[in-house]
Amino acid sequence: MSSTLNSLASRAKAAVLHPYSDPLTEVEPLIMERGEGIRVWDSEGRSYIDAMAGLWCASLGFSEGRLAKAAYDQMVSLPYYHGFTGKSHVPMIELAERLLAMAPVPMGKVFFANSGSEANDTAIKLIWYYNNARGKPGKKKIIGRHRGYHGITLATTSVTGQVINHTSFDVPLNDRYLHVQTPDFYHAGLPGESEEDYATRCAQELENAILTAGPDTVAAMFMEPILGGGGLIVPPRTYYEKMQAVLRKYDVLVVADEVICGFGRTGNHWGSTTMGIQPDLLTCAKALTSGYLPLSALMISQEVVDGIASEAHRIGVLGHGFTYSGHPVPAAVALETLRIYDEIDIISHVRTVGSHLFEQLNARVGSHPLVGQVRGAGLLAGFEIVADKDSHKNFEPSRKVGPTMVGLCQKHGLIIRACPNDAIVMSPPLVITESEVDQVVDKFVAALNDLE
Ligand code: PLP
Repeated sequence: MSSTLNSLASRAKAAVLHPYSDPLTEVEPLIMERGEGIRVWDSEGRSYIDAMAGLWCASLGFSEGRLAKAAYDQMVSLPYYHGFTGKSHVPMIELAERLLAMAPVPMGKVFFANSGSEANDTAIKLIWYYNNARGKPGKKKIIGRHRGYHGITLATTSVTGQVINHTSFDVPLNDRYLHVQTPDFYHAGLPGESEEDYATRCAQELENAILTAGPDTVAAMFMEPILGGGGLIVPPRTYYEKMQAVLRKYDVLVVADEVICGFGRTGNHWGSTTMGIQPDLLTCAKALTSGYLPLSALMISQEVVDGIASEAHRIGVLGHGFTYSGHPVPAAVALETLRIYDEIDIISHVRTVGSHLFEQLNARVGSHPLVGQVRGAGLLAGFEIVADKDSHKNFEPSRKVGPTMVGLCQKHGLIIRACPNDAIVMSPPLVITESEVDQVVDKFVAALNDLE
């Protein structure tokens, strides 16, 4: 058994340049072989509760047979077609209609891509196109937030605000990208400052950034409703209201990146609804297909669609599209995924089980001397491991507390994720039950006790 693991692990290390790894000192990767419900099994036969749903995506768990059947049925009827120049197909049309019907604010049209990065990249390109269309060719700068994550294409990495995605990649690409602070009251709030005052300060900083750049040069701001990969940062309650007032004042478009928060994760269909964002453009991916096949979507307001349409008409064609934009197989899987979410009333389920998760985390994890703050919404939870609970001080990065916790959790059969500031994140399959939540928390507490 173990020689099989060794050979697979060494073959993996020899042949695969794994994402987000240190190729020279890479730990033996777990070789995942199968999944059932919220669990996955490695090639040694060990099982893990995957409290990250893979990469925040496998909302229906790892064995939803209806998605396999939807893919199979589509493969045998029309395995491939596209939407270029005078072509379309039923799964793409139905999925676009379905997404428009569930959008958090009225939207005009949907553009399909394969990944969150591509949806966000397309949003950037179409915003530039739109501003050219409306005679504002100088209005091109995109605002992101430090620690925000929007993908890894050249443009989206530039909007992403994580150092690790910039260093040595020569991004941000040029001066079209600005970053403002991450709304992290826990660390950035000043002594005696209320959350409300902190939100005002963030909005003031945004206004200063726009004025410094020149309002005629700033096109859009990208925002994850709750920042995921940056460490599960939940902005203060009035933050988005104040930020959006500034953006509207200077005619800056609001792009909600719902790649993690979409499809029930925060207890509503959209994180925008949970957090009070009224986007002009919205991107989603991941749970759109429960992660079973790659697919992403960009929803665009009618006003922006109209501008894009006039420019495309002037030129003669909208010169943008991927070979696999709206591929019928992932589109069919997405339609089935959305059907299942409705049938099982995923929103009510997430609210009920999410409340239980937070009760358990607050009672059993938040009280721990090394845990600084429990935060999140719905079934998206995070907490920081801190050296000092009073000052909110984290351990030195060299202590690698986050990665250590990942390893300890794995020993207890639990997959979680470590983010900047030793923020530990859980984003389990949305179909998790209350008793499975208890098992997650049991395993996490056992791992936490091993850390001491
Ligand atoms: N946006 C957010 C908020 C994400 O978390 C991610 C990926 O985790 C992306 C965009 C990029 O998506 P993808 O990895 O599918 O390109």
